[in-house]
Amino acid sequence: MLAMSLETTKCPVCGRKLALQEYVTHGTRLVCTDCESNLYVEARRPLRLKLVPEEATYNANDRPESYG
Ligand SMILES: [Zn+2]
Repeated sequence: MLAMSLETTKCPVCGRKLALQEYVTHGTRLVCTDCESNLYVEARRPLRLKLVPEEATYNANDRPESYG
């Protein structure tokens, strides 16, 4: 395989096509650019995303959207 590859998958919520760097690992968090759902990498081959359960985002100490 060549270096520099992007992998594409779909948002499980809105179906938008998302491109991810190949170095993402299982459990990597991301936010859909379209519906802004909190997602994580559930599986790598094939690449599959899953919605982060709401309680998990609620309990996280490092919430990305805390603007003081
Ligand atoms: Zn989405």
